[in-house]
Amino acid sequence: MGRRILVTGGAGFIGSFLCEALLSRGHDVLCVDNFFTSSRHNVERLLDHKRFELMRHDVTFPLYVEVDEIYNLACPASPIHYQRDPVQTTKTSVHGAINMLGLAKRVKAKILQASTSEIYGDPIEHPQTEAYWGNVNPIGPRACYDEGKRCAETLFFDYHRQHKLRIKVARIFNTYGPRMHPNDGRVVSNFIVQALKSEPVTIYGEGNQTRSFCFVEDMVDGLIRLMDTPDSETGPVNLGNPAETTILELAQKIVAMTGSKSSIVMRPLPQDDPRQRSPDISKARSLLKWEPKVALGVGLEKTIQYFAQDSR
Ligand code: NAD
Ligand code: UDP
Repeated sequence: MGRRILVTGGAGFIGSFLCEALLSRGHDVLCVDNFFTSSRHNVERLLDHKRFELMRHDVTFPLYVEVDEIYNLACPASPIHYQRDPVQTTKTSVHGAINMLGLAKRVKAKILQASTSEIYGDPIEHPQTEAYWGNVNPIGPRACYDEGKRCAETLFFDYHRQHKLRIKVARIFNTYGPRMHPNDGRVVSNFIVQALKSEPVTIYGEGNQTRSFCFVEDMVDGLIRLMDTPDSETGPVNLGNPAETTILELAQKIVAMTGSKSSIVMRPLPQDDPRQRSPDISKARSLLKWEPKVALGVGLEKTIQYFAQDSR
């Protein structure tokens, strides 16, 4: 039977795909967003759907609605966006979590937190398992996001222990796909936009830092599977694609795939930029019977297509 599901940050990049996937599974979806890093445009095609509702609301303020499940995605995710107003970023993570957990407690809803691989910081253990506690600079420029998300995880587990809330914590690794914001500075969107405009492709540092990129549809499937696990399963669960690539390899791949004349240029590496990142997804494989299906080349093709045509 269809459930009433709240998606905070539902107009964002991952959120908009999640809203669509939940609607297609027969649920009622309430999308809550303050449009800090997104616009109605991402969910425009859903506005006429009879089981979809869009509400402008900032999660740092309490919300009173009746729902069965909550996916808490509201938070700027790209370094440029979350560093623009760092105090607000921490507030969104921490006050937002408190408000959504309070709502879940009041209406007895199950609640999933979109946590992040950033809670591992610049990891010393590689690849990262859920048992790793991380290596985060608490006072650096990324701390508003990293520590905000770490505190949100703490709140989730304390609400679970103290109030018996049904919680799920997903640690999301770098995710890409259509509807990424073209100017949010994230590496996949940056490189594609630069390559399509024949502008220099900007590598920060030497390009030997690594990331592992997961296509957005795979990510959404993993999030829904995690929400649907038995109540005894709280996570945290790593969700991401373990296929690791250097940033230089990514740049070369995108330049080749777009047939671009762009040069590749080196720029200074931002402070605290993690040197390596790749998820150990053994837990997701066994618990969720999940692993990413979309290879990087296939996902990049769809994303390039979006930036070449649909985003104009
Ligand atoms: P996004 O910026 O596209 O989406 C975030 C959404 O949250 C936006 O629509 C934004 O307007 C909204 N928002 C921000 N502050 C808000 C507030 N105070 N109240 C209500 N809405 C607010 O980013 P995304 O990539 O879709 O990320 C979604 C979630 O997944 C975030 O919580 C992010 O931390 C997490 N995540 C994403 C990635 C990734 O690679 N994309 C990796 C790890 C974790
Ligand atoms: N990066 C880069 N050029 C860009 C944008 C990003 O070399 O134009 C690098 C960035 O320094 C980081 C990696 O790509 O090492 C991923 O950056 P992104 O902001 O996408 O994600 P995060 O650092 O949060 O994983």
